[in-house]
Amino acid sequence: MAVIGIDLGTTNSIAVVFRNGEVEMIPNSFGEYLTPSVVTIENNELIVGKIARQKLVTSPENTTSLFKRDMGNDKKIKLGKKMYLPQELSALLLKQLINDAEKYLNEKVEEVVISVPAYFNAKQRRATKLAGEIIGVKVDRLINEPSAAAIACHEEEFETFIIFDFGGGTLDVSVVDCFENVVSICSIAGNNRLGGIDFDRAIAMYFCQQNKIDYNSLIRAEKESLFLASERTKISLQNKDEAGMSMSIRGKSYSTKISNEVLALISKPILDEIREVIRRAVKDSGFEPSEIDKMIMVGGSSYMPVVRDYLEKLLKIPVSSADDIDCMVAKGLGKYLGIKQRCSEVKDLVVTDICPFSLSTPIVNESDKGNPLAKVIIPKNTVLPSSKTVTLQAYKRGQKNILISVYQGEEMYESDNILLGRTDIKIPRNFKENEQFNITYSYDINSILYVEIEIISTGEKKVFIVGEDKKLESIKENKQLKAIKEISIKLNSSPEYDACKERTKRIFKELSPEYKDILRERMESLDIMYNDCVNNIQKKRAIVEEMDRILDIFDSFSRFDESDIFSDLENEEKNSILKDDIKVVDGTGGRVS
Ligand code: ADP
Ligand code: MG
Repeated sequence: MAVIGIDLGTTNSIAVVFRNGEVEMIPNSFGEYLTPSVVTIENNELIVGKIARQKLVTSPENTTSLFKRDMGNDKKIKLGKKMYLPQELSALLLKQLINDAEKYLNEKVEEVVISVPAYFNAKQRRATKLAGEIIGVKVDRLINEPSAAAIACHEEEFETFIIFDFGGGTLDVSVVDCFENVVSICSIAGNNRLGGIDFDRAIAMYFCQQNKIDYNSLIRAEKESLFLASERTKISLQNKDEAGMSMSIRGKSYSTKISNEVLALISKPILDEIREVIRRAVKDSGFEPSEIDKMIMVGGSSYMPVVRDYLEKLLKIPVSSADDIDCMVAKGLGKYLGIKQRCSEVKDLVVTDICPFSLSTPIVNESDKGNPLAKVIIPKNTVLPSSKTVTLQAYKRGQKNILISVYQGEEMYESDNILLGRTDIKIPRNFKENEQFNITYSYDINSILYVEIEIISTGEKKVFIVGEDKKLESIKENKQLKAIKEISIKLNSSPEYDACKERTKRIFKELSPEYKDILRERMESLDIMYNDCVNNIQKKRAIVEEMDRILDIFDSFSRFDESDIFSDLENEEKNSILKDDIKVVDGTGGRVS
Protein backbone atom coordinates (compact mmCIF):
# COMPACT_ATOMS: atom_id res chain seq x y z
CA MET A 1 0.00 0.00 0.00
CA ALA A 2 1.46 3.32 -1.04
CA VAL A 3 0.95 6.87 0.16
CA ILE A 4 1.53 9.52 -2.47
CA GLY A 5 1.49 13.30 -2.61
CA ILE A 6 -0.53 15.14 -5.23
CA ASP A 7 -0.16 18.76 -6.29
CA LEU A 8 -3.66 19.17 -7.70
CA GLY A 9 -3.06 22.31 -9.75
CA THR A 10 -5.46 24.57 -11.60
CA THR A 11 -3.49 24.02 -14.79
CA ASN A 12 -1.18 21.08 -14.16
CA SER A 13 -1.09 18.34 -11.56
CA ILE A 14 1.86 16.31 -10.31
CA ALA A 15 2.13 13.11 -8.26
CA VAL A 16 5.08 12.31 -6.04
CA VAL A 17 6.23 9.55 -3.70
CA PHE A 18 8.93 9.16 -1.06
CA ARG A 19 10.88 5.93 -1.71
CA ASN A 20 14.29 4.58 -0.80
CA GLY A 21 15.14 7.69 1.14
CA GLU A 22 14.32 10.16 -1.58
CA VAL A 23 11.60 12.17 -3.22
CA GLU A 24 10.58 10.62 -6.53
CA MET A 25 8.33 12.32 -9.05
CA ILE A 26 5.83 9.97 -10.65
CA PRO A 27 5.63 10.04 -14.45
CA ASN A 28 2.30 9.71 -16.28
CA SER A 29 1.77 7.43 -19.27
CA PHE A 30 3.73 9.89 -21.43
CA GLY A 31 6.70 9.67 -19.09
CA GLU A 32 6.02 13.29 -18.11
CA TYR A 33 5.65 14.72 -14.62
CA LEU A 34 3.13 17.45 -15.43
CA THR A 35 -0.37 16.24 -16.25
CA PRO A 36 -2.62 19.02 -17.55
CA SER A 37 -5.67 19.33 -15.27
CA VAL A 38 -8.11 18.85 -18.13
CA VAL A 39 -10.90 16.27 -18.18
CA THR A 40 -12.80 14.80 -21.14
CA ILE A 41 -15.61 12.29 -20.91
CA GLU A 42 -16.54 10.64 -24.18
CA ASN A 43 -18.72 7.52 -24.41
CA ASN A 44 -18.46 7.17 -20.64
CA GLU A 45 -14.70 6.96 -20.96
CA LEU A 46 -12.40 9.28 -19.12
CA ILE A 47 -9.50 11.04 -20.80
CA VAL A 48 -7.29 13.25 -18.66
CA GLY A 49 -4.21 15.34 -19.36
CA LYS A 50 -2.35 16.03 -22.56
CA ILE A 51 -4.90 14.46 -24.90
CA ALA A 52 -7.81 16.11 -23.11
CA ARG A 53 -6.03 19.44 -23.51
CA GLN A 54 -6.26 19.13 -27.31
CA LYS A 55 -9.89 18.13 -26.92
CA LEU A 56 -10.65 21.58 -25.49
CA VAL A 57 -10.62 22.57 -29.16
CA THR A 58 -11.69 19.36 -30.92
CA SER A 59 -14.36 18.23 -28.46
CA PRO A 60 -15.17 21.27 -26.31
CA GLU A 61 -18.62 20.02 -25.32
CA ASN A 62 -17.07 16.97 -23.64
CA THR A 63 -14.06 18.70 -22.12
CA THR A 64 -13.36 21.06 -19.27
CA SER A 65 -10.44 22.70 -17.47
CA LEU A 66 -9.81 25.26 -14.70
CA PHE A 67 -12.47 23.65 -12.49
CA LYS A 68 -10.26 24.04 -9.43
CA ARG A 69 -11.29 27.68 -9.47
CA ASP A 70 -14.86 26.58 -8.73
CA MET A 71 -14.10 24.05 -5.99
CA GLY A 72 -16.59 24.37 -3.17
CA ASN A 73 -19.18 26.02 -5.42
CA ASP A 74 -22.44 24.42 -6.31
CA LYS A 75 -22.00 25.53 -9.89
CA LYS A 76 -22.27 22.51 -12.18
CA ILE A 77 -20.27 22.07 -15.34
CA LYS A 78 -21.73 20.32 -18.36
CA LEU A 79 -19.77 17.53 -20.03
CA GLY A 80 -21.69 15.79 -22.78
CA LYS A 81 -25.18 15.31 -21.46
CA LYS A 82 -24.30 15.19 -17.77
CA MET A 83 -23.61 17.89 -15.24
CA TYR A 84 -20.67 17.63 -12.84
CA LEU A 85 -19.72 19.46 -9.67
CA PRO A 86 -16.14 20.78 -9.52
CA GLN A 87 -15.21 18.23 -6.85
CA GLU A 88 -16.46 15.43 -9.09
CA LEU A 89 -14.20 16.64 -11.88
CA SER A 90 -11.32 16.80 -9.41
CA ALA A 91 -12.19 13.25 -8.40
CA LEU A 92 -11.82 12.16 -12.03
CA LEU A 93 -8.48 13.94 -12.32
CA LEU A 94 -7.33 12.25 -9.09
CA LYS A 95 -8.50 8.93 -10.45
CA GLN A 96 -6.19 9.27 -13.45
CA LEU A 97 -3.21 10.45 -11.39
CA ILE A 98 -3.65 7.59 -8.95
CA ASN A 99 -4.06 5.12 -11.79
CA ASP A 100 -0.78 6.32 -13.34
CA ALA A 101 0.92 6.14 -9.94
CA GLU A 102 -0.30 2.59 -9.28
CA LYS A 103 1.05 1.49 -12.64
CA TYR A 104 4.40 3.13 -11.96
CA LEU A 105 4.73 1.92 -8.38
CA ASN A 106 3.17 -1.46 -9.02
CA GLU A 107 1.28 -1.02 -5.80
CA LYS A 108 -2.14 0.11 -4.72
CA VAL A 109 -2.45 3.72 -3.59
CA GLU A 110 -4.72 3.96 -0.61
CA GLU A 111 -3.81 7.27 0.87
CA VAL A 112 -2.93 10.64 -0.56
CA VAL A 113 -1.72 13.96 0.73
CA ILE A 114 -3.01 16.81 -1.42
CA SER A 115 -1.77 20.38 -1.59
CA VAL A 116 -4.33 23.19 -1.74
CA PRO A 117 -3.98 26.96 -2.05
CA ALA A 118 -3.62 28.55 1.39
CA TYR A 119 -6.53 30.75 0.48
CA PHE A 120 -8.90 27.82 0.04
CA ASN A 121 -11.71 28.29 2.53
CA ALA A 122 -13.35 25.56 4.57
CA LYS A 123 -15.83 24.72 1.81
CA GLN A 124 -13.13 24.42 -0.84
CA ARG A 125 -11.04 22.18 1.44
CA ARG A 126 -14.02 20.03 2.21
CA ALA A 127 -14.68 19.69 -1.52
CA THR A 128 -11.06 18.61 -2.07
CA LYS A 129 -11.32 15.92 0.61
CA LEU A 130 -14.59 14.82 -0.92
CA ALA A 131 -12.91 14.42 -4.31
CA GLY A 132 -10.73 11.74 -2.73
CA GLU A 133 -13.64 10.08 -0.95
CA ILE A 134 -15.63 9.89 -4.19
CA ILE A 135 -13.01 7.60 -5.72
CA GLY A 136 -12.38 5.70 -2.50
CA VAL A 137 -8.96 6.99 -1.43
CA LYS A 138 -8.27 8.44 1.94
CA VAL A 139 -7.12 12.05 1.89
CA ASP A 140 -4.81 11.86 4.85
CA ARG A 141 -3.93 15.54 4.92
CA LEU A 142 -4.34 18.74 3.03
CA ILE A 143 -1.18 20.82 2.99
CA ASN A 144 -1.11 24.45 2.00
CA GLU A 145 0.81 24.93 -1.24
CA PRO A 146 3.06 27.66 0.23
CA SER A 147 3.94 25.38 3.15
CA ALA A 148 4.86 22.57 0.75
CA ALA A 149 6.97 24.99 -1.29
CA ALA A 150 8.59 26.24 1.94
CA ILE A 151 9.57 22.69 2.90
CA ALA A 152 11.10 22.22 -0.54
CA CYS A 153 12.95 25.56 -0.48
CA HIS A 154 14.25 25.24 3.08
CA GLU A 155 18.05 25.25 2.92
CA GLU A 156 19.59 27.42 5.62
CA GLU A 157 18.86 27.05 9.31
CA PHE A 158 18.33 30.74 9.86
CA GLU A 159 16.70 32.69 7.10
CA THR A 160 13.58 34.54 6.17
CA PHE A 161 12.29 34.42 2.63
CA ILE A 162 9.27 35.13 0.48
CA ILE A 163 7.78 32.39 -1.66
CA PHE A 164 6.10 33.73 -4.75
CA ASP A 165 3.97 30.96 -6.27
CA PHE A 166 2.40 32.12 -9.52
CA GLY A 167 0.46 29.38 -11.32
CA GLY A 168 -2.15 29.23 -14.03
CA GLY A 169 -5.01 30.63 -11.98
CA THR A 170 -3.72 31.57 -8.55
CA LEU A 171 -1.07 33.67 -6.89
CA ASP A 172 0.11 32.87 -3.37
CA VAL A 173 2.74 34.95 -1.64
CA SER A 174 4.01 33.85 1.75
CA VAL A 175 6.67 34.97 4.16
CA VAL A 176 8.57 32.06 5.69
CA ASP A 177 10.90 32.17 8.68
CA CYS A 178 13.33 29.33 9.35
CA PHE A 179 14.83 28.87 12.77
CA GLU A 180 16.83 25.68 13.19
CA ASN A 181 14.43 22.90 12.22
CA VAL A 182 11.28 24.97 12.61
CA VAL A 183 9.84 26.39 9.42
CA SER A 184 7.14 28.94 10.25
CA ILE A 185 4.73 30.37 7.76
CA CYS A 186 4.41 33.92 9.08
CA SER A 187 1.90 35.35 6.64
CA ILE A 188 0.08 34.44 3.49
CA ALA A 189 -1.58 36.72 1.00
CA GLY A 190 -3.04 35.65 -2.26
CA ASN A 191 -5.47 36.03 -5.05
CA ASN A 192 -7.14 32.88 -6.30
CA ARG A 193 -8.30 34.59 -9.45
CA LEU A 194 -4.96 35.76 -10.75
CA GLY A 195 -2.58 33.68 -12.83
CA GLY A 196 -1.09 32.80 -16.20
CA ILE A 197 -4.52 32.64 -17.77
CA ASP A 198 -4.92 36.36 -17.18
CA PHE A 199 -1.88 37.00 -19.37
CA ASP A 200 -3.36 34.65 -22.00
CA ARG A 201 -6.54 36.68 -21.85
CA ALA A 202 -4.65 39.97 -22.15
CA ILE A 203 -2.84 38.64 -25.25
CA ALA A 204 -6.09 37.27 -26.71
CA MET A 205 -7.80 40.65 -26.26
CA TYR A 206 -4.82 42.46 -27.77
CA PHE A 207 -4.92 40.07 -30.75
CA CYS A 208 -8.64 40.72 -31.26
CA GLN A 209 -8.19 44.45 -30.90
CA GLN A 210 -5.29 44.57 -33.39
CA ASN A 211 -7.25 42.48 -35.89
CA LYS A 212 -10.63 44.10 -35.25
CA ILE A 213 -12.17 40.78 -34.19
CA ASP A 214 -15.26 40.94 -32.00
CA TYR A 215 -14.30 38.52 -29.20
CA ASN A 216 -17.88 38.11 -28.05
CA SER A 217 -18.95 36.86 -31.46
CA LEU A 218 -16.57 33.87 -31.27
CA ILE A 219 -17.93 30.43 -30.43
CA ARG A 220 -16.44 28.41 -27.57
CA ALA A 221 -14.06 26.31 -29.69
CA GLU A 222 -12.76 29.47 -31.39
CA LYS A 223 -12.18 31.10 -28.03
CA GLU A 224 -10.32 28.00 -26.80
CA SER A 225 -8.14 28.08 -29.94
CA LEU A 226 -7.47 31.77 -29.41
CA PHE A 227 -6.49 31.14 -25.78
CA LEU A 228 -4.21 28.22 -26.68
CA ALA A 229 -2.52 30.36 -29.36
CA SER A 230 -2.18 33.23 -26.87
CA GLU A 231 -0.61 30.90 -24.33
CA ARG A 232 1.84 29.59 -26.93
CA THR A 233 2.78 33.16 -27.79
CA LYS A 234 3.26 33.96 -24.11
CA ILE A 235 5.49 30.93 -23.64
CA SER A 236 7.58 31.76 -26.70
CA LEU A 237 8.20 35.19 -25.16
CA GLN A 238 10.20 33.43 -22.44
CA ASN A 239 13.22 33.24 -24.74
CA LYS A 240 12.81 36.16 -27.11
CA ASP A 241 11.71 39.75 -27.02
CA GLU A 242 9.09 39.58 -29.73
CA ALA A 243 6.81 36.86 -31.06
CA GLY A 244 4.35 36.62 -33.91
CA MET A 245 0.90 35.20 -33.46
CA SER A 246 -1.44 34.20 -36.23
CA MET A 247 -4.68 32.32 -36.40
CA SER A 248 -7.30 31.46 -38.87
CA ILE A 249 -10.88 31.95 -37.86
CA ARG A 250 -13.64 30.73 -40.18
CA GLY A 251 -11.16 30.47 -43.04
CA LYS A 252 -9.76 33.97 -42.62
CA SER A 253 -6.18 34.53 -41.48
CA TYR A 254 -5.26 37.06 -38.83
CA SER A 255 -1.90 37.89 -37.32
CA THR A 256 -0.05 40.28 -35.08
CA LYS A 257 3.28 40.69 -33.32
CA ILE A 258 3.70 41.16 -29.63
CA SER A 259 6.80 42.07 -27.65
CA ASN A 260 7.56 41.65 -23.96
CA GLU A 261 7.38 45.43 -23.72
CA VAL A 262 3.84 45.48 -25.10
CA LEU A 263 2.92 42.52 -22.90
CA ALA A 264 4.11 44.45 -19.83
CA LEU A 265 1.93 47.39 -20.86
CA ILE A 266 -1.23 45.39 -21.49
CA SER A 267 -0.68 43.40 -18.28
CA LYS A 268 -0.35 46.42 -16.03
CA PRO A 269 -3.51 45.62 -14.02
CA ILE A 270 -2.12 42.11 -13.34
CA LEU A 271 1.26 43.49 -12.25
CA ASP A 272 -0.43 46.05 -10.00
CA GLU A 273 -2.36 43.27 -8.32
CA ILE A 274 0.87 41.26 -7.81
CA ARG A 275 2.38 44.27 -6.05
CA GLU A 276 -0.63 44.59 -3.78
CA VAL A 277 -0.48 40.90 -2.78
CA ILE A 278 3.26 41.14 -1.96
CA ARG A 279 2.67 44.30 0.05
CA ARG A 280 -0.02 42.57 2.12
CA ALA A 281 2.12 39.48 2.75
CA VAL A 282 5.12 41.52 3.95
CA LYS A 283 2.99 43.84 6.09
CA ASP A 284 1.17 40.94 7.78
CA SER A 285 4.39 39.02 8.46
CA GLY A 286 5.53 41.57 11.01
CA PHE A 287 8.99 41.62 9.42
CA GLU A 288 10.63 44.80 8.23
CA PRO A 289 11.36 44.48 4.50
CA SER A 290 15.06 44.76 5.38
CA GLU A 291 14.83 41.62 7.54
CA ILE A 292 13.79 39.48 4.59
CA ASP A 293 16.69 37.77 2.82
CA LYS A 294 15.31 36.84 -0.58
CA MET A 295 12.37 35.96 -2.79
CA ILE A 296 12.04 32.56 -4.46
CA MET A 297 9.79 32.29 -7.49
CA VAL A 298 7.87 29.07 -8.21
CA GLY A 299 4.89 28.13 -10.43
CA GLY A 300 4.72 28.16 -14.24
CA SER A 301 4.01 31.88 -14.59
CA SER A 302 7.34 32.61 -12.90
CA TYR A 303 8.98 31.72 -16.22
CA MET A 304 7.70 34.98 -17.67
CA PRO A 305 10.39 37.64 -18.18
CA VAL A 306 7.69 40.29 -17.72
CA VAL A 307 6.97 39.01 -14.20
CA ARG A 308 10.59 38.51 -13.27
CA ASP A 309 11.69 41.95 -14.52
CA TYR A 310 8.82 43.54 -12.66
CA LEU A 311 9.73 41.84 -9.37
CA GLU A 312 13.41 42.66 -9.75
CA LYS A 313 12.55 46.33 -10.17
CA LEU A 314 9.95 46.30 -7.42
CA LEU A 315 11.99 44.65 -4.65
CA LYS A 316 15.30 45.50 -3.08
CA ILE A 317 16.02 41.89 -2.09
CA PRO A 318 17.48 39.26 -4.45
CA VAL A 319 14.83 37.52 -6.55
CA SER A 320 15.57 34.07 -7.93
CA SER A 321 13.74 31.19 -9.55
CA ALA A 322 13.52 27.87 -7.73
CA ASP A 323 15.66 25.04 -9.16
CA ASP A 324 12.55 23.50 -10.52
CA ILE A 325 9.88 26.13 -11.02
CA ASP A 326 7.16 23.62 -11.94
CA CYS A 327 7.67 21.00 -9.27
CA MET A 328 8.52 22.77 -6.00
CA VAL A 329 5.12 22.23 -4.41
CA ALA A 330 5.17 18.55 -5.38
CA LYS A 331 8.75 18.17 -4.13
CA GLY A 332 7.73 19.70 -0.81
CA LEU A 333 4.87 17.19 -0.57
CA GLY A 334 7.36 14.40 -1.22
CA LYS A 335 9.67 15.70 1.47
CA TYR A 336 6.70 15.95 3.83
CA LEU A 337 5.93 12.26 3.21
CA GLY A 338 9.55 11.53 4.14
CA ILE A 339 9.29 13.56 7.33
CA LYS A 340 6.08 11.76 8.18
CA GLN A 341 7.72 8.38 7.73
CA ARG A 342 10.50 9.66 10.02
CA CYS A 343 13.07 8.84 7.40
CA SER A 344 16.61 9.42 8.55
CA GLU A 345 17.50 10.85 5.13
CA VAL A 346 15.21 13.85 5.64
CA LYS A 347 15.84 16.40 8.29
CA ASP A 348 13.05 16.37 10.82
CA LEU A 349 11.43 19.68 10.02
CA VAL A 350 8.55 21.07 12.00
CA VAL A 351 6.32 23.25 9.89
CA THR A 352 3.90 25.60 11.54
CA ASP A 353 1.05 26.86 9.46
CA ILE A 354 -1.39 29.69 9.92
CA CYS A 355 -4.98 30.53 9.17
CA PRO A 356 -4.70 33.20 6.46
CA PHE A 357 -8.07 34.87 7.19
CA SER A 358 -10.21 35.77 10.20
CA LEU A 359 -13.17 33.58 11.12
CA SER A 360 -16.10 35.34 12.76
CA THR A 361 -19.75 35.11 13.73
CA PRO A 362 -22.33 37.91 13.52
CA ILE A 363 -23.44 39.77 16.67
CA VAL A 364 -26.09 42.44 17.17
CA ASN A 365 -25.16 45.94 16.14
CA GLU A 366 -27.02 48.15 18.67
CA SER A 367 -26.86 51.23 16.50
CA ASP A 368 -28.07 49.52 13.33
CA LYS A 369 -30.02 46.33 14.10
CA GLY A 370 -30.23 45.27 10.46
CA ASN A 371 -26.47 45.31 9.97
CA PRO A 372 -24.76 42.80 12.32
CA LEU A 373 -21.14 43.24 13.32
CA ALA A 374 -18.44 40.62 12.80
CA LYS A 375 -17.26 39.09 16.08
CA VAL A 376 -13.87 37.59 15.26
CA ILE A 377 -13.31 34.21 16.92
CA ILE A 378 -10.10 33.08 15.19
CA PRO A 379 -8.07 36.07 14.02
CA LYS A 380 -6.12 36.08 10.76
CA ASN A 381 -2.60 34.60 10.89
CA THR A 382 -3.28 32.51 14.02
CA VAL A 383 -0.92 29.52 14.23
CA LEU A 384 -2.67 26.17 13.63
CA PRO A 385 -4.16 24.10 15.11
CA SER A 386 -6.20 26.55 17.10
CA SER A 387 -9.38 26.43 19.14
CA LYS A 388 -11.08 29.52 20.51
CA THR A 389 -14.32 30.05 22.40
CA VAL A 390 -16.52 33.10 22.88
CA THR A 391 -19.58 33.35 25.11
CA LEU A 392 -22.64 35.00 23.62
CA GLN A 393 -26.21 35.42 24.74
CA ALA A 394 -29.62 35.06 23.17
CA TYR A 395 -31.02 38.49 22.69
CA LYS A 396 -34.75 38.28 22.25
CA ARG A 397 -37.45 37.16 24.60
CA GLY A 398 -39.32 34.17 23.27
CA GLN A 399 -36.71 33.45 20.67
CA LYS A 400 -37.03 29.83 19.50
CA ASN A 401 -33.86 29.36 17.49
CA ILE A 402 -30.33 30.59 17.49
CA LEU A 403 -29.03 31.15 14.01
CA ILE A 404 -25.34 30.32 13.97
CA SER A 405 -23.43 31.69 11.00
CA VAL A 406 -19.76 31.38 10.20
CA TYR A 407 -18.06 34.04 8.14
CA GLN A 408 -14.58 34.53 6.76
CA GLY A 409 -12.94 37.91 6.16
CA GLU A 410 -11.60 41.07 7.67
CA GLU A 411 -14.60 43.42 7.29
CA MET A 412 -16.29 45.10 10.23
CA TYR A 413 -19.83 44.40 9.06
CA GLU A 414 -20.59 40.73 8.65
CA SER A 415 -22.55 41.22 5.46
CA ASP A 416 -19.30 42.34 3.79
CA ASN A 417 -17.55 39.07 4.68
CA ILE A 418 -17.92 35.65 3.01
CA LEU A 419 -20.56 33.34 4.48
CA LEU A 420 -19.13 29.86 4.95
CA GLY A 421 -22.13 28.16 6.44
CA ARG A 422 -25.07 28.58 8.73
CA THR A 423 -27.36 26.49 10.82
CA ASP A 424 -30.33 26.90 13.09
CA ILE A 425 -30.25 25.51 16.60
CA LYS A 426 -33.42 24.94 18.55
CA ILE A 427 -33.36 26.66 21.90
CA PRO A 428 -34.29 24.34 24.81
CA ARG A 429 -37.78 25.04 26.17
CA ASN A 430 -36.61 26.33 29.51
CA PHE A 431 -34.07 28.64 27.92
CA LYS A 432 -34.15 32.02 29.67
CA GLU A 433 -33.76 35.46 28.29
CA ASN A 434 -30.10 36.41 28.23
CA GLU A 435 -29.14 32.78 28.72
CA GLN A 436 -25.60 32.23 27.56
CA PHE A 437 -24.07 29.82 25.12
CA ASN A 438 -20.50 29.13 24.06
CA ILE A 439 -19.43 29.04 20.50
CA THR A 440 -16.07 27.42 19.78
CA TYR A 441 -14.22 27.45 16.48
CA SER A 442 -11.55 24.80 16.09
CA TYR A 443 -9.33 24.99 13.07
CA ASP A 444 -7.31 21.80 12.61
CA ILE A 445 -3.98 21.27 10.83
CA ASN A 446 -5.85 20.55 7.61
CA SER A 447 -7.48 23.98 8.00
CA ILE A 448 -10.85 22.37 8.41
CA LEU A 449 -13.15 24.26 10.71
CA TYR A 450 -15.28 22.65 13.41
CA VAL A 451 -17.95 24.73 15.11
CA GLU A 452 -19.21 23.69 18.52
CA ILE A 453 -22.21 25.21 20.26
CA GLU A 454 -22.72 24.60 23.95
CA ILE A 455 -25.78 25.77 25.86
CA ILE A 456 -24.18 26.54 29.19
CA SER A 457 -27.13 25.86 31.50
CA THR A 458 -27.84 22.40 30.10
CA GLY A 459 -24.37 21.44 28.92
CA GLU A 460 -25.94 20.37 25.63
CA LYS A 461 -23.38 20.39 22.78
CA LYS A 462 -23.57 20.23 19.01
CA VAL A 463 -20.71 20.10 16.53
CA PHE A 464 -20.82 21.11 12.88
CA ILE A 465 -18.32 20.97 10.09
CA VAL A 466 -18.49 23.92 7.83
CA GLY A 467 -18.83 22.86 4.25
CA GLU A 468 -20.81 19.77 5.08
CA ASP A 469 -23.93 21.58 4.08
CA LYS A 470 -26.68 19.50 2.57
CA LYS A 471 -25.54 19.89 -0.99
CA LEU A 472 -22.05 18.62 -0.31
CA GLU A 473 -23.15 15.76 1.89
CA SER A 474 -25.93 14.49 -0.28
CA ILE A 475 -23.38 13.43 -2.88
CA LYS A 476 -22.73 10.34 -0.79
CA GLU A 477 -26.11 8.84 -1.55
CA ASN A 478 -26.27 10.35 -4.95
CA LYS A 479 -26.49 8.27 -8.13
CA GLN A 480 -23.93 10.60 -9.58
CA LEU A 481 -21.33 9.27 -7.15
CA LYS A 482 -21.90 5.77 -8.42
CA ALA A 483 -21.72 6.96 -12.00
CA ILE A 484 -18.36 8.61 -11.35
CA LYS A 485 -16.99 5.44 -9.88
CA GLU A 486 -18.10 3.57 -12.97
CA ILE A 487 -16.52 5.84 -15.55
CA SER A 488 -13.58 3.86 -16.81
CA ILE A 489 -10.26 5.36 -17.68
CA LYS A 490 -9.74 5.14 -21.42
CA LEU A 491 -7.28 2.37 -22.06
CA ASN A 492 -4.31 3.83 -23.74
CA SER A 493 -1.97 1.29 -25.20
CA SER A 494 -0.27 3.95 -27.32
CA PRO A 495 -0.66 7.27 -25.52
CA GLU A 496 1.90 9.15 -27.63
CA TYR A 497 0.21 8.08 -30.86
CA ASP A 498 -3.22 9.02 -29.52
CA ALA A 499 -1.86 12.38 -28.42
CA CYS A 500 -0.49 12.95 -31.94
CA LYS A 501 -3.84 12.10 -33.48
CA GLU A 502 -5.61 14.51 -31.17
CA ARG A 503 -3.03 17.18 -31.78
CA THR A 504 -3.43 16.74 -35.52
CA LYS A 505 -7.17 17.29 -35.20
CA ARG A 506 -6.64 20.44 -33.17
CA ILE A 507 -3.99 21.88 -35.49
CA PHE A 508 -6.09 21.00 -38.54
CA LYS A 509 -8.95 22.97 -37.10
CA GLU A 510 -6.76 25.99 -36.43
CA LEU A 511 -4.73 25.91 -39.64
CA SER A 512 -5.12 28.30 -42.55
CA PRO A 513 -7.11 26.59 -45.32
CA GLU A 514 -4.19 26.50 -47.76
CA TYR A 515 -2.21 24.21 -45.45
CA LYS A 516 -4.99 21.88 -44.37
CA ASP A 517 -4.65 19.42 -47.25
CA ILE A 518 -0.91 19.22 -46.84
CA LEU A 519 -1.24 18.41 -43.15
CA ARG A 520 -3.89 15.79 -43.81
CA GLU A 521 -1.88 14.06 -46.52
CA ARG A 522 1.30 14.02 -44.47
CA MET A 523 -0.42 12.62 -41.43
CA GLU A 524 -2.42 10.08 -43.41
CA SER A 525 0.70 8.60 -44.94
CA LEU A 526 2.39 8.37 -41.55
CA ASP A 527 -0.76 6.84 -40.15
CA ILE A 528 -0.71 4.08 -42.74
CA MET A 529 2.93 3.38 -41.93
CA TYR A 530 2.15 3.33 -38.24
CA ASN A 531 -0.67 0.85 -38.64
CA ASP A 532 1.50 -1.35 -40.85
CA CYS A 533 4.09 -1.65 -38.12
CA VAL A 534 1.92 -3.96 -35.99
CA ASN A 535 4.35 -5.03 -33.27
CA ASN A 536 7.49 -3.21 -34.26
CA ILE A 537 7.57 -0.89 -31.29
CA GLN A 538 10.84 0.76 -32.21
CA LYS A 539 9.58 1.69 -35.62
CA LYS A 540 6.27 2.85 -34.25
CA ARG A 541 8.12 5.14 -31.90
CA ALA A 542 10.16 6.59 -34.76
CA ILE A 543 6.99 7.31 -36.71
CA VAL A 544 5.39 9.02 -33.74
CA GLU A 545 8.52 11.13 -33.30
CA GLU A 546 8.31 12.09 -36.95
CA MET A 547 4.62 12.97 -36.52
CA ASP A 548 5.48 15.15 -33.57
CA ARG A 549 8.23 16.89 -35.49
CA ILE A 550 5.89 17.71 -38.35
CA LEU A 551 3.15 18.81 -35.98
CA ASP A 552 5.61 21.13 -34.20
CA ILE A 553 6.23 22.82 -37.49
CA PHE A 554 2.57 23.15 -38.40
CA ASP A 555 1.87 24.32 -34.87
CA SER A 556 4.45 27.04 -35.24
CA PHE A 557 2.54 28.43 -38.22
CA SER A 558 0.27 30.03 -35.71
CA ARG A 559 3.22 31.58 -33.90
CA PHE A 560 4.96 33.24 -36.85
CA ASP A 561 3.62 35.42 -39.54
CA GLU A 562 4.41 34.81 -43.21
CA SER A 563 7.63 36.82 -43.22
CA ASP A 564 8.85 34.73 -40.29
CA ILE A 565 7.98 31.51 -42.00
CA PHE A 566 10.34 32.12 -44.89
CA SER A 567 13.14 33.87 -43.08
CA ASP A 568 15.33 31.35 -41.28
CA LEU A 569 16.61 27.82 -41.07
CA GLU A 570 13.50 26.59 -39.38
CA ASN A 571 11.61 27.92 -42.34
CA GLU A 572 13.69 25.99 -44.80
CA GLU A 573 12.52 22.94 -42.96
CA LYS A 574 8.96 24.16 -43.13
CA ASN A 575 9.29 24.55 -46.86
CA SER A 576 10.67 21.08 -47.18
CA ILE A 577 7.76 19.71 -45.22
CA LEU A 578 5.43 21.49 -47.57
CA LYS A 579 7.19 20.19 -50.66
CA ASP A 580 9.19 17.05 -50.02
CA ASP A 581 8.36 13.53 -49.11
CA ILE A 582 8.64 12.40 -45.56
CA LYS A 583 11.23 9.85 -44.65
CA VAL A 584 11.09 7.61 -41.65
CA VAL A 585 14.34 8.01 -39.81
CA ASP A 586 14.80 4.79 -37.87
CA GLY A 587 16.51 2.95 -40.71
CA THR A 588 14.55 -0.23 -40.14
CA GLY A 589 13.15 -0.09 -43.64
CA GLY A 590 9.44 -0.24 -44.26
CA ARG A 591 7.20 1.89 -46.37
CA VAL A 592 8.24 5.37 -47.28
CA SER A 593 5.60 7.51 -48.88
P1 ADP B 1 -1.01 25.61 -11.41
O1 ADP B 1 -0.24 25.48 -10.15
O2 ADP B 1 -2.02 26.69 -11.39
O3 ADP B 1 -1.57 24.34 -11.93
P2 ADP B 1 1.48 25.89 -12.92
O4 ADP B 1 2.40 26.28 -11.83
O5 ADP B 1 1.69 24.58 -13.59
O6 ADP B 1 -0.02 26.11 -12.53
O7 ADP B 1 1.57 27.06 -14.02
C1 ADP B 1 0.78 27.03 -15.15
C2 ADP B 1 0.87 28.37 -15.84
O8 ADP B 1 2.22 28.64 -16.18
C3 ADP B 1 0.08 28.42 -17.13
O9 ADP B 1 -0.67 29.62 -17.17
C4 ADP B 1 1.15 28.40 -18.19
O10 ADP B 1 0.75 29.09 -19.36
C5 ADP B 1 2.27 29.10 -17.51
N1 ADP B 1 3.58 28.74 -18.07
C6 ADP B 1 4.15 27.52 -18.13
N2 ADP B 1 5.35 27.59 -18.76
C7 ADP B 1 5.54 28.89 -19.09
C8 ADP B 1 6.57 29.62 -19.77
N3 ADP B 1 7.67 29.00 -20.21
N4 ADP B 1 6.41 30.96 -19.93
C9 ADP B 1 5.31 31.58 -19.48
N5 ADP B 1 4.29 30.96 -18.85
C10 ADP B 1 4.41 29.62 -18.65
MG1 MG C 1 0.58 25.27 -8.45
